[in-house]
Amino acid sequence: MISLEQVGFAYNAGRSDAIVALQNLNLTFQKGELVALLGHNGSGKSTLAKLLAAVHFATSGNLRVNGIHATETTAYDIRRDVGLVFQRPDDQLIAGRVIDDIAFGPENLGLPRDEIELRAQTVIDALDLHDIRDASISTLSGGERQRVAIAGVLAMQPSYVILDEPTTMIAPPQARQLLALVHRLRQQLGIGFIHITHFMHEVVDFDRIIVMHEGHLLMQGTPHEVFNRHAELHAVGLDVPLVTQIGSKLHAKGFTLDTPILTAQQLAQQLPASSAPVVQPISTPTSTPVTSDTFISCENVHFTYLKDTPMQSSGLRGATCTIRRGDIVALLGGTQAGKSTLIECILGLRKPETGTVRIDGKDIYAPNYDIGALRDRIGVVFQQPETQ
Ligand code: ADP
Ligand code: MG
Repeated sequence: MISLEQVGFAYNAGRSDAIVALQNLNLTFQKGELVALLGHNGSGKSTLAKLLAAVHFATSGNLRVNGIHATETTAYDIRRDVGLVFQRPDDQLIAGRVIDDIAFGPENLGLPRDEIELRAQTVIDALDLHDIRDASISTLSGGERQRVAIAGVLAMQPSYVILDEPTTMIAPPQARQLLALVHRLRQQLGIGFIHITHFMHEVVDFDRIIVMHEGHLLMQGTPHEVFNRHAELHAVGLDVPLVTQIGSKLHAKGFTLDTPILTAQQLAQQLPASSAPVVQPISTPTSTPVTSDTFISCENVHFTYLKDTPMQSSGLRGATCTIRRGDIVALLGGTQAGKSTLIECILGLRKPETGTVRIDGKDIYAPNYDIGALRDRIGVVFQQPETQ
């Protein structure tokens, strides 16, 4: 068990620029329990995670892991038992290759070679990392790095794993996989998880939800209890899951529903069959024709990464689209669907092998086109602000 008694923490404690991040926290976490930690940015979630994993230490009160008081002296033992996956995986990946990074923790524990290999293999299986086992970490996507970071923590076989916003950098299907993995590992290994997230729907089947606000505990309870307090959550900038909001709106309109509704399945089960609408067929997408107010037009754009090498991979295969002046357009697609590649072709950063990109009707890859002038026409905010 992890227990917190009147725990407080301040950055730069004792100095004039001290920042109080946590106050009077009384909490417990059980092994095998799935706990969600919610709260607005700056509410203290990451700070609490670092206290639990003995990265920082309480500046007041007591934090105990299995009865052991967390201090600089006991930190090493506590870190073996409480693994933390940082908000940014790059803060925790140290080795060059995936397999070396996973083995790093167990090696540090001084375990025998075959035990290290067995643990590495187990987490590689659990997280399905076979394909990238020997890959260099610098070549991995955000989602892959996340999984490697989790694998490294799991290889230490901790009793508790804290995941600090692990799903912000990955696409919904991978996020679902990760959550399924959390449930499976709890089931199989009895690991207790503390999952920090902004996505409410991820935690509707957790054992408990803790809500933080400005460094203190605002509320805790089952998902049913917490998501029933919509107004209080709203007041601190949080929401209930979308399906819960829909449930309350329908309830207010007179539908007999057992609120709060937490899943789409519950909603479907409880809605009367007579309210089922006639399903309309979905129309196939068509491209808007090029007209005088067309700003960007791409026609049959092809782009291949590392062409004519064994690593060759297709980025775009005949992308065609038009964007009119003043339009607000959403570009959707799974990871590796080609979203960023298309943007880079439009920005003049990647020359298509075939096809044309026109801005204001001019082919931007034509020999006499002034790419410099294009920079004044289109601004871009990259996926990772650092690259900018
Ligand atoms: P959350 O994870 O909920 O967004 P944090 O734990 O990161 O919240 O932050 C809680 C408070 O502590 C905020 O006021 C934040 O500005 C402050 N804080 C976080 N990290 C540091 C740091 N390294 N130095 C000083 N203040 C920090
Ligand atoms: Mg945080």
